[in-house]
Amino acid sequence: MRKKIVAANWKMNLNPVEANSLFDEVSQISNSDVEILVFPSAIYLLGFNQKKSGNVKLGIQNFYPTDKGALTGEISISQAKECGAEYALVGHSERRALFGETHDFLKQKVDACLTHDLTPVFCCGEPLEIRQAHKHIAYVKNQIVTGLFHLDANEIVKCIVAYEPVWAIGTGLTASTKQAEEMQKEIRSWFSSNYGNDIAEKISILYGGSCNASNAKELFSCANVDGGLIGGASLKKESFEEIIESF
Ligand code: PEP
Repeated sequence: MRKKIVAANWKMNLNPVEANSLFDEVSQISNSDVEILVFPSAIYLLGFNQKKSGNVKLGIQNFYPTDKGALTGEISISQAKECGAEYALVGHSERRALFGETHDFLKQKVDACLTHDLTPVFCCGEPLEIRQAHKHIAYVKNQIVTGLFHLDANEIVKCIVAYEPVWAIGTGLTASTKQAEEMQKEIRSWFSSNYGNDIAEKISILYGGSCNASNAKELFSCANVDGGLIGGASLKKESFEEIIESF
C-alpha cells in the first residue's frame, strides 16, 4: 500500500505568532492513515521540531545541496536536518522559474537529500503554453528523467513525486481529475518501465495546484493520486484538515 500524504507548503507566509499557532492546530489533527507534512519558512523549523507532536512531520522548502561553505544566506541540507526537517521540496515551479534552478542543480539537490537521509518531494509540472501545445507529457517526462532517473532502485523508492501543473498553482484553476490522473498514471508508468512495477507501485505521487477542501475528495479518488501538496488552502487549519479527511 502506498502512503497517503498531505503536505502543507506555507511558502513565505505567516509571521511567528501565526505560524506557531497554525502549527499547534495542525499538530492536533489526528488521522493515522495520512502522513501530514508541514513545510514552513525555514526559520521556524527548530522551534517546531522542539514542540512537534502527533503524526506531523517537518520539511524544508529550499536548501543548498552542499554541506558548508561561503554561501551567504544559504541553508545546507544537514543544517535543515538538524533543525528537524525529514523532507525537502525539490523542483517546485517557483524555484525553477523565479530562482533559475536547472535540471542539473535539482539533480544535485535530490542527491543531497538522499545522502543525508531526507525524503525529496520532487515537484514537476508544465506551464500553460506547454499544455496548450499538447507537449505536457514529454515536458514532465524530461523533468522526471533528468531529476530522478540517475537513482538506483533503492534510492528511487525513497522519493515522493508531486505533479503540479504550473497553470494551477495559486491560480484557483485546478487540473480536472482526468488531467491529473492522465499525468500521474504516465509518471507511474515511467517508473515502472525503468525500475519495475513493484517499485513504481511504492512511490507516492501527489497532486498540487489549487487543491482545496472542495476538490480534494475528487482528486484523491484517482487511482494514481496518493495525496496533495497544498499551498493556499494549507494556511487555515479548517481547510487543511478537510483536505486531510478527504481520502
Ligand atoms: C504549491 O505551491 O505547491 C501549491 C500547490 O500552491 P496552491 O495550492 O496555492 O496552488
